[in-house]
Amino acid sequence: MTHLLILGGTSEAHHLSHRCAEMGILTTVSLAGRTRQNGDYAGQVRIGGFGGADGLADWMQEHSVTRLIDATHPFAHAMPWNAFQASTKVPVPRLRLLRPRFVRRPGWSSAPTLTAALHALSPGTRVLLTTGWMELDAVNQRPDLDIVVRTIEPVATLPRHVTAIQIRPPLSLQQEHALLAEHRIEALISKDSGGTTAPKLQAASEFGARVILVDRQPHPPGPTVETPDQAVAWLNASVAFQI
Ligand code: NAP
Repeated sequence: MTHLLILGGTSEAHHLSHRCAEMGILTTVSLAGRTRQNGDYAGQVRIGGFGGADGLADWMQEHSVTRLIDATHPFAHAMPWNAFQASTKVPVPRLRLLRPRFVRRPGWSSAPTLTAALHALSPGTRVLLTTGWMELDAVNQRPDLDIVVRTIEPVATLPRHVTAIQIRPPLSLQQEHALLAEHRIEALISKDSGGTTAPKLQAASEFGARVILVDRQPHPPGPTVETPDQAVAWLNASVAFQI
């Protein structure tokens, strides 16, 4: 019997869990538990870390997992490598579901890290950061910027040159425009999370704000698809092969 483990935390994982439920596949979705809302996933849901690659391998063995789909966020650094190592150890066929990068618009630029993106700005720039709560220490290196940090969950104490706003996406294009206007934003720093062009990026372009995308880190080798539909096709093919 197929038991699919989806490493989640993305809209793709959510969509895939529902497709798998429709197909009658026994599915467990695993979430890190970073946000208070854990979404309306189909199938079983487990929450919290496994304890590294070995912990994940043990969990998969204990729960007779036969397929692993790593649908974590493009900026999840550790989990894709844990999944790679654990799937080799058990072994279990693994697929990476990774949405494509944003299609670049003229004038947008890239930076390898948040720190590098901040250093690309002139003193006094009013910049909106939508890069999340992690790695926010980088703002300490640019006290000469006016920084607005937008996060889903509240962030701990920030220096005086940083204003924190808490927003749960998605925002409409109109709402993104209003936010940029309210804070008189001149530059937007966003992760290259990818997918369809996010309203925040479109709004920033239209608003005349500079857009800097923080690049993704390298991901483990192995089969990779971009959409839940492609993941379902992989699953069908690999399960048919299993029979
Ligand atoms: P990460 O660096 O890959 O993960 C750090 C640790 O969190 C992992 O070593 C693992 O702990 C645990 N973990 C991560 N994803 C997990 C999952 N799906 N199920 C169980 N444990 C998980 O990832 P992150 O950047 O901290 O992100 C955490 C989660 O938020 C991910 O699931 C990701 O899909 C989602 N997310 C991340 C971002 C982002 O920008 N980074 C944005 C949106 C959503 P153990 O080693 O103990 O197993």
